[in-house]
Amino acid sequence: MKAILRETRELAPAVRHFVFEIEAEQRFDFTPGQFVSLHGRFDGKDITRAYSLAAPPSGNRIELCLNLVEGGRFSPHLFALSPGDAVELTGPTGYFVARPTVRATLLAATGTGIAPYRAMLPGLLASAGTHPVTLLFGTRHEESILYREEWENWERSHANFRFWPTLSRAGEGWSGRRGYVQASLAEALGGTLDADVFVCGLTAMVNEVRALAKSLGLDRKQIVYEKYD
Ligand SMILES: Cc1cc2nc3c(=O)[nH]c(=O)nc-3n(C[C@H](O)[C@H](O)[C@H](O)COP(=O)(O)OP(=O)(O)OC[C@H]3O[C@@H](n4cnc5c(N)ncnc54)[C@H](O)[C@@H]3O)c2cc1C
Repeated sequence: MKAILRETRELAPAVRHFVFEIEAEQRFDFTPGQFVSLHGRFDGKDITRAYSLAAPPSGNRIELCLNLVEGGRFSPHLFALSPGDAVELTGPTGYFVARPTVRATLLAATGTGIAPYRAMLPGLLASAGTHPVTLLFGTRHEESILYREEWENWERSHANFRFWPTLSRAGEGWSGRRGYVQASLAEALGGTLDADVFVCGLTAMVNEVRALAKSLGLDRKQIVYEKYD
């Protein structure tokens, strides 16, 4: 099916929010946390790339959070699109979705790995009751804290939600957390083993967080992950 680009906005250096509409469909249904596949043909080769849906279902509109990978084959093409341009899309697909059980939830991400949580959070908070939901987000610099204002708004409206950005290359003025997400993982779990841990981003981080969560006593079934590379 064809997705038509409607608008984009800059979120951070080399990271943009994209809004598409699925042409010829009234609704595009999916479970928050799932991804779509975008397709293109370059130099005679078909290329497909997966992108997490970055907002809950809303009619035939979908939102994505995209990183421009320097020297990448597909993402520069997406960054060169203008409103009105079309891209071929299939999906939705994926099992990186919220659990039916209601308990403490830790969402860990780096970079655009935060995208699926933007889709999942409203539903999670609606069903979490008083169970804590923590979003632990790692990036290098303060200017790359994606959707910061939105997470801070969720914090204000939900006493059980915490947004913990942690910077690996923070400037002097940063008074928040420093280091990789791994450094804050145990504290974010708050000593409980009755928790679901979601991890999304590049393989190296995902593997380290999984290993750390297991070493803290979590069963592998409690750890759900999505690797972007
Ligand atoms: C299930 C799934 C969901 C994904 N969701 C998203 C998403 O929501 N947003 C998004 O930007 N990407 C996402 N990706 C990654 C995306 O599919 C592409 O790999 C990415 O756009 C690079 O493609 P490319 O053709 O430009 O680069 P390629 O020519 O394929 O080069 C690949 C290089 O890009 C690196 N890379 C891959 N993804 C990223 C990234 N996000 N940030 C920095 N470096 C990266 C890889 O480590 C590798 O070195 C997802 C991947 C998977 C498997």
